Amino acid sequence: MSNTAPSPTTRQPTPAGHRLWIKNPLAAFTANGLDASGGLVVSGGRIAEVVGAGKQPLAPWDETFDAGNHVLTPGLVNTHHHFYQTLTRAWSPVANAELFPWLQNLYPVWARLTPRDLELATTAALAELLLSGCTTAADHHYLFPQGLEDAIDIQVEVVRRLGMRATLTRGSMSLGQNDGGLPPQSTVQSTEAILEDSERLIGRYHERGEGATIQIALAPCSPFSVTREAMVASAEMAEKHDVRLHTHLAETLDEEDFCLERFGLRTVDYLDSVGWLTERTWLGHGIHFNDAEIARLGAAGTAVAHCPTSNMRLASGTARVLELEAAGVPVGLGVDGSASNDASNMILEARQALYLQRLRYGAAAVTCERALGWATKGSARVLGRSDLGELAPGKQADLAMFRLDELRFSGSHDPIAALLLCGADKADRVMVGGVWRVKDGAIEGLDLAGLISKHSQAARRLVAG
Ligand code: ZN
Repeated sequence: MSNTAPSPTTRQPTPAGHRLWIKNPLAAFTANGLDASGGLVVSGGRIAEVVGAGKQPLAPWDETFDAGNHVLTPGLVNTHHHFYQTLTRAWSPVANAELFPWLQNLYPVWARLTPRDLELATTAALAELLLSGCTTAADHHYLFPQGLEDAIDIQVEVVRRLGMRATLTRGSMSLGQNDGGLPPQSTVQSTEAILEDSERLIGRYHERGEGATIQIALAPCSPFSVTREAMVASAEMAEKHDVRLHTHLAETLDEEDFCLERFGLRTVDYLDSVGWLTERTWLGHGIHFNDAEIARLGAAGTAVAHCPTSNMRLASGTARVLELEAAGVPVGLGVDGSASNDASNMILEARQALYLQRLRYGAAAVTCERALGWATKGSARVLGRSDLGELAPGKQADLAMFRLDELRFSGSHDPIAALLLCGADKADRVMVGGVWRVKDGAIEGLDLAGLISKHSQAARRLVAG
């Protein structure tokens, strides 16, 4: 593994029974209406107490962290990404393209991805997320060219080294150009190979229950790159092993046209026809739904990862987020892959969601708290995690803390609003499961300069071919 990633042995969790009072933050956003003005107590990797204004913890504490200069939020949760794409950010041939031509130009580059490239790309994406206050990230990895069969194993190792949580999806593509799909034939696999590896990964890595650090989900890539057979078989396997299902759906009108032509169905009808219209599923993007489709998704409890920056960058459209929520669809946020964002910054993504959704629904309906709620509690729900995304007793001690002493915040009044309206872009402190992973804006034990050097070198090599 890379020597740029920190070793897990350098950071120990606090001893059992130890109680840390994160005291009197400048402001606290709990995502559930609880008053945490007095801060919270962390013990055993969880939140033991939430402390109200002017109060002290109910039980004695061993250590105090004075949070008087910090805005405290739950650790942000990212629900959709493609870590490997950090190697193809701002690549000029696709800088001004929409989804289908963007993909057709990038597939041959991505097909050259090596294990070392993926390790560096995953480290870069996760480091960037962590520094933006993100503690849990989902990745949708669907490229398994020859030599990269261990892609998910590589990603598991990097997540563990950084001490984050991740839902790593075993993505797949099985419908190549020869059979009417979009990706080149060299990037697709047989349904059998996909299922065999999926089962191996679930057995080896999937953790269940509260506090899980690694979870595996199954993620055929999209209607235009996966056979109906692979969709059906993935849903059956997810049911058998009780893991989640993820795919791209209703991202563009090109995709809708593809579904109508190939399957004679609109996207949600197609989803239903392959056994995916369930609460086990979360969808990347979910933009082009009509009223009836939104109602069906809500009734099924199918979730949506809203990716505002990517949707604007590729001019894909605007997700109907408030209508989805009103129908009962869990909605969270995703930065999406770095070739269509091109930043992996969760706090900035919450700002993008705020502004894009205000254009659709008006400013009063889309408050700063609502957007932060999507990035925390909403996203946790999208990933099926009731133990994350809120500041409340019993939840995991996953925290993000932001300072407001940069020039961009000077003159601001409401600290929670300032996070989004002034454009906070980095956390000062981040805790995952009771362990500080970011202190003073730096990842504990990570050689960031070394990572940037190796990662940018790998990116140049990859596009050069
Ligand atoms: Zn995506």
